[in-house]
Amino acid sequence: MGPDVDLLVVGGGPVGLVTALRAADAGLAVTVVEPRRGPVDKACGEGLMPAALDRLGQVGVDPDGHDLAGIVYTDGRHRVRAPLTRPGRGVRRTVLHAALLEAAEHAGVQVRHTRMVGIEPGDARDRARPARVRTADGQALTAAFVVAADGLHSPTRRALGLERPARPGARRFGLRAHYAVAPWSDGVEVHWSRDAEAYVTPVADDLVGVALLSRPPGRFDAGWTDFPALAGRLAGSEPVSAVRGAGPLRQRVRSTVSGRVLLVGDAAGYVDALTGEGLTLGTAQAFAAVDAVLAGTPLAYARRAPALGRRSTLLTRSLLAASGQRTVRRLVVPAAARVPALYRGAVRQLADGR
Ligand SMILES: Cc1cc2nc3c(=O)[nH]c(=O)nc-3n(C[C@H](O)[C@H](O)[C@H](O)COP(=O)(O)OP(=O)(O)OC[C@H]3O[C@@H](n4cnc5c(N)ncnc54)[C@H](O)[C@@H]3O)c2cc1C
Repeated sequence: MGPDVDLLVVGGGPVGLVTALRAADAGLAVTVVEPRRGPVDKACGEGLMPAALDRLGQVGVDPDGHDLAGIVYTDGRHRVRAPLTRPGRGVRRTVLHAALLEAAEHAGVQVRHTRMVGIEPGDARDRARPARVRTADGQALTAAFVVAADGLHSPTRRALGLERPARPGARRFGLRAHYAVAPWSDGVEVHWSRDAEAYVTPVADDLVGVALLSRPPGRFDAGWTDFPALAGRLAGSEPVSAVRGAGPLRQRVRSTVSGRVLLVGDAAGYVDALTGEGLTLGTAQAFAAVDAVLAGTPLAYARRAPALGRRSTLLTRSLLAASGQRTVRRLVVPAAARVPALYRGAVRQLADGR
């Protein structure tokens, strides 16, 4: 007898559902295990770059939101803008998740509302030894392949011993909330202060999201005292959504594959939210993981995964290294303003997910 399902996806966030949709499109029987009933909200800057939008379109998802035409860096005194070559979109997480869930239902993806509590990876080279997943409702399912998209603190990554210890150094955290204010900019604005970055994403004609990235202790200061330009824009308005947080952001992996289990999205490791490429990279990993599953070779994904988004990861790391030292940090926005071609080239690479 064969396994219970062709593909079991652990985690029904955006990357898990894109994986499920892509696999279902290819004719696989897919089950998603996700404890939360949607639409789920989460700390996110909510800026979808064009490459992420392309891949969502390829799985039949076109969520409502606000067009993004560019990315602005500002420190209050300097301001530099990089236009996107094609529009991105600011999309509320709840809107994105609802659209993905609806598409999954149409595609015949089975969603089981329970938690993965135990996993055996099976043998990548032996079809007779599938992966086995135990769930909190006392069930055990066998799967020809498992894709784990269970987020930043991935229980699957931990259970399989795929985590790498964090490097010593400052840990960064993200917080976000929304303000009922008409967007004043045609794209994402990243405000740099002495110690933190606040980035603003228009998500509707009357709503902006503000994500704050900082080292601990994270604090969502509704007065925005460290960001005078932003404080002026948000003066008199209070957050209209709950403040949500995530972190520590940096997560490292030993490998993205164990046996018949493939890690995608934040579960596959994360650098930082500063460049907002999480869903661009996550959707690329989802597509690559499904390619490997269809070919029956999980190790092909392990070989390919590090190259996905390599350049964007490098850019994020370099920017983080610079932003971690106060003297250099002060120069980031002025330098981008002085050499706008370099800044625009970097943004183009991030937006195109290369
Ligand atoms: C402050 C901040 C700002 C960001 N801004 C942007 C941005 O502007 N643009 C962008 O593209 N990215 C951004 N990101 C990154 C983006 O939010 C993530 O990359 C993205 O959410 C990853 O999706 P995912 O599906 O991998 O994980 P998640 O969205 O975290 O989903 C994981 C799912 O797994 C489920 N799960 C957990 N444990 C289990 C279990 N045991 N069994 C089954 N299911 C389980 C959870 O319930 C959850 O639904 C930002 C991140 C932060 C923190």
